[in-house]
Parts: sequence; structure tokens; C-alpha cells
Amino acid sequence: MNDESPICSAKGCRAAAVWVLAWNNPKIHTPERRKTWLACEEHREHLSQFLGVRSMLKDVVPLADWEARAAERSATDG
Ligand SMILES: [Zn+2]
Repeated sequence: MNDESPICSAKGCRAAAVWVLAWNNPKIHTPERRKTWLACEEHREHLSQFLGVRSMLKDVVPLADWEARAAERSATDG
């Protein structure tokens, strides 16, 4: 079994994630802090809207790009 493939964060959804939604709740997080939700193609808009109406959504990035960025950061971070 391979359970490494990321799954959509939407409630009850078991689809493979394609998007990363980066968000920040200014009431509880410092401004540079980023929380992430994963979304499949179907739930990207729903989850984006949920965060968007609360002014918490910062970025929506394809999962492959997000992981490439993370790899780049860890490669250059010291
Ligand atoms: Zn989904």
C-alpha cells in the first residue's frame, strides 16, 4: 500500500489532491504563517471560496509547483 499520495481536504472527499490552498487566519496566526489545505479539481473552488469570504486565502498553487518550491527552499535553507 502506498498512502503517500495527498488527499483532498474537503470533508468526505478521498480524491487525489491537485491544488494547494495556502491560508492564514490573522486572528490566530502571525502574518508570515501559512496553513495549507489540499484540494482536488472539484473542490478547489469551494475551498477557495470558504477561505476567500473570510479573507484568509493567500495563495492557490498547483501541488506540483508547491512541492517544487518546498524542495527548493529546503535545498537552499542551510
Ligand atoms: Zn475533493
